[in-house]
Amino acid sequence: MPINGWRGRPAWQTCVVVGAVATVGYVLLPAGGWQAAGYGLIGAACLVAVTWAVAHYRPQQPATWHTFIAGLTMWVLSTVVDRLTSGHAWSLTGDLLELAGYPLICWALFGLIRGRARAQDRTAWVDAGMIATSLWLLYWIFVLGATVSDPVLPWTQKLLAVLIAGGDIALFVLGSLLVTTPGARTVSYRLMLTALLLTAASDILLIAVPSQEFDLDGATDAISLLGNTLVAAAALHPSMRRLTVPLRRPPAFVRPRLILLTATILLAPAVGLYKGATGRAGQDWLPTGIGSIILFLLVAARMAGLVRRIENQADRLTLLARQDSLTGLANRRQWDERLTAAVAEHRFSGGALFVALIDLDHFKIYNDTYGHQAGDELLAGAAAAWGAHVRDGDLLARYGGEEFGLLFTGCTAAEATAVLERLLSATPSRQTFSAGLARWDGQESPGDLLHRADQLLYASKRAGRARVTAEPVAAAAAS
Ligand code: GH3
Ligand code: MG
Ligand code: MG
Repeated sequence: MPINGWRGRPAWQTCVVVGAVATVGYVLLPAGGWQAAGYGLIGAACLVAVTWAVAHYRPQQPATWHTFIAGLTMWVLSTVVDRLTSGHAWSLTGDLLELAGYPLICWALFGLIRGRARAQDRTAWVDAGMIATSLWLLYWIFVLGATVSDPVLPWTQKLLAVLIAGGDIALFVLGSLLVTTPGARTVSYRLMLTALLLTAASDILLIAVPSQEFDLDGATDAISLLGNTLVAAAALHPSMRRLTVPLRRPPAFVRPRLILLTATILLAPAVGLYKGATGRAGQDWLPTGIGSIILFLLVAARMAGLVRRIENQADRLTLLARQDSLTGLANRRQWDERLTAAVAEHRFSGGALFVALIDLDHFKIYNDTYGHQAGDELLAGAAAAWGAHVRDGDLLARYGGEEFGLLFTGCTAAEATAVLERLLSATPSRQTFSAGLARWDGQESPGDLLHRADQLLYASKRAGRARVTAEPVAAAAAS
């Protein structure tokens, strides 16, 4: 049952409106204690809303949600501490709290993704590896490289910077996996994804704008408060229960993945060009080189996966195009190909080649008496029973309807007739067939050979059915 909010409107909508208004109010607060209290209050309200919604809707993976709440709590506390202590040495506590939030949030997102993609999709992880490597390269070149090689900064701060960058990258990767995994795209899902995008936006803002020149605390706080609001709204929407339910027929996401591949391939040379243009061509050669190698290997792995998938599909299509779906035998297409090939081959080798056409007797009556389904079962059963008597190199095919063809080589006319007699007695449900057996005369076309077999089949029908008619010995003896 959906949760109602202000004046009977859905609670998630009320949450978005109240959250947006509160965020504007927060930005107007004076810095320091007031902002710390304001941020703590709005953040706590969002967390309470999520906890309440989880208790109300009882989703399939409550632990995932609780981990998420724990991670968000760390982040809210981290900002509160930062606002209280801005400029003091104590802000290390804020960084540590922020750091503690990453594994919790990442673990929760991982839980969501696993729920949405029950069947393991390995290609999604290769894509994720590519995003992680390219982001790491960008982070290193534009942010971390300078921080880590700064001679003044203490090593604790450098380590924190590296760890937080790792956390951000993990968030990006999980966000992209959330997009490419095949779960239901509900309102709750979209709200959650937007919240992630807002988190990413505030991080990019922090990285891209030099903090010495602009004070961005207000802007990034506002963005992260909106993010928290959207997480609360996502939890309050009834579709939150379907966040971890995979779709039955997932879309393939071919185009977004191709765009990702292309962007990844272009990233390494683009970074090289940028550094050449800004006169830093000689720097960062080691991370750029290693990053490029990893990226190219991942792209190659992805390409190999794509090629393998296409090959598998082509194999399956070929099989389907050449096989009869009811009996599993070769179909008319394969029969025609193999007969033409066999005639061409025997023109050179000169061995004996026989074609038999087999037609079930009174099959229409069988259908009318026992039903069409029983007729199908007889066709499949007969194909299986006869198949046991056919040698490996020979070909039994469904020619059409209740007619079958048998192509065999390397035997005498008497042996060929004996094989057909065995098939006749192996026919299930006490049914019979009539067959015509023709030997290739060494000259005629496959069509003419089939025509003769058909004539002989009709001779069997006329003679009373349930028999095999081979051509007169005099004609067959010619070869
Ligand atoms: P005959 O002894 O002269 O061969 O008589 P028949 O009844 O076997 O031959 P007829 O050509 O009159 O009828 C063939 C029947 O086979 C008619 C058609 O409905 C049935 N049939 C063809 N394909 C299938 C199929 O895939 N499944 C089933 N159940 N019936 C089929
Ligand atoms: Mg027929
Ligand atoms: Mg028939």
